[in-house]
Amino acid sequence: MNRKDFGEEFHWGVSNAAYQIEGANKIDGKGISIWDVFTQKKNKIFQGQNGNIACDYYNKFTEDIFLIYQLKIPNYRFSISWTRIFPNGITNINYKGIDFYNRVIDLCLELGIEPWITLYHWDLPEALQKKGGWTNRDIVNWFSEYVACCIKHFGNRVSRWIILNEPMVFTGAGYFLGIHAPGKKGLNNFLAASHHAALCQSIGAGIIKSLQTESFVGTTFSYSHLEPYRKDYEKDQKATLKVDALLNRLFIEPLLGLGYPVNDLPILKRMEKYILANDMQDLKSEVDFIGLQVYTRELIKYAPLMPFVQAKLIKASDRFVHHTIMNWEVHPNSIYEASKRFNQYEGVKQIIVTENGAAFDDELNNNTVRDELRTDYLKTHLNKLLKAKNEGVKVNGYFIWTLTDNFEWAEGYKPRFGLVHVDFNTQKRTIKDSGLWYKDFLS
Ligand code: BGC
Repeated sequence: MNRKDFGEEFHWGVSNAAYQIEGANKIDGKGISIWDVFTQKKNKIFQGQNGNIACDYYNKFTEDIFLIYQLKIPNYRFSISWTRIFPNGITNINYKGIDFYNRVIDLCLELGIEPWITLYHWDLPEALQKKGGWTNRDIVNWFSEYVACCIKHFGNRVSRWIILNEPMVFTGAGYFLGIHAPGKKGLNNFLAASHHAALCQSIGAGIIKSLQTESFVGTTFSYSHLEPYRKDYEKDQKATLKVDALLNRLFIEPLLGLGYPVNDLPILKRMEKYILANDMQDLKSEVDFIGLQVYTRELIKYAPLMPFVQAKLIKASDRFVHHTIMNWEVHPNSIYEASKRFNQYEGVKQIIVTENGAAFDDELNNNTVRDELRTDYLKTHLNKLLKAKNEGVKVNGYFIWTLTDNFEWAEGYKPRFGLVHVDFNTQKRTIKDSGLWYKDFLS
């Protein structure tokens, strides 16, 4: 397998996200986000860590973008921190924030790297969370104003846009389980937040299209390849269908005009109270690509006591399979299954894998990180992606998560996903062997 097998048009890249790397959380007029607040709470984050400094990318972005250049990676996906642009969420623009992203974009372009901007990667302004955040329907207007502002200021140099990063994860972990910011729980919070996020993904796409005709617009979805724990046991099979509706279909289907997967997950009927007159039409929008983010496979077991889905996931470590330190099974065929599945939807024009990667226990010795496990993970996943492409799947891009080790949300700095090692005491960057492998592969 080599790069050429994927064709000339294929987009090769690397991804990261503002809160996980930038630091400088109160610098140059930036407002406070829900992650700034959530990380201050007790027992929420591994060892009480936070992203206040993270990779100090706010001050070191030049070095990091040069690393991308050095690794010969042609596309760079990063996110904008909403509170750098609007410290209070809406109305008053912070021009120092605009300047910062202008410098990032300009440097990319100077080095021949194509910027792909994610508009929302989980760091909602705290000022908006105080009004209910994603559970408040006004988020549609707040988000629209923010999107329009980004297009106005960056749209003359950026044409690749990603609206939301994994709505299932930020609504599920943030508004149902309470394990991510803003730490809210319960079905009502989850259903309201989900409906509003689904509206924002389609309305956001419409805004970009109306303001920028030459744009290439998509939005991302997490995808877990699911299988019943006991293949022939009907109850596990049914449980798998429910979990699939929740994890893999809840956001892509309304975007494609198919509505919510209520038949396979009846609890979604309770969403009705948040759905207004024209919403079902407004949930639909034409996007140029679907961002697929896939890491693993999950096995699903019937669990009658689990609320709403009557199902649970059986952890990789309990199954004694090869897994990463996130306890995610290494299962390359998942990327094949995932891309095939998305490809079956008629409305999907193009699939770009906007995240794939792995966290292992890396060791830095004599300025080297011998991370064969990561390189192996990437190669085997790419092989399976190529198989899907050769079978006609419209996949046209692959972005590795992630450039540098960074703040891995509730898991803090322990899981290292980067192609580049970061010593968080000195902020020294060291390219890992996997980074060198990617460079060779792309050369
Ligand atoms: C997210 C990233 C995260 C990665 C690894 C994705 O769910 O978009 O922010 O770091 O997975 O967990």
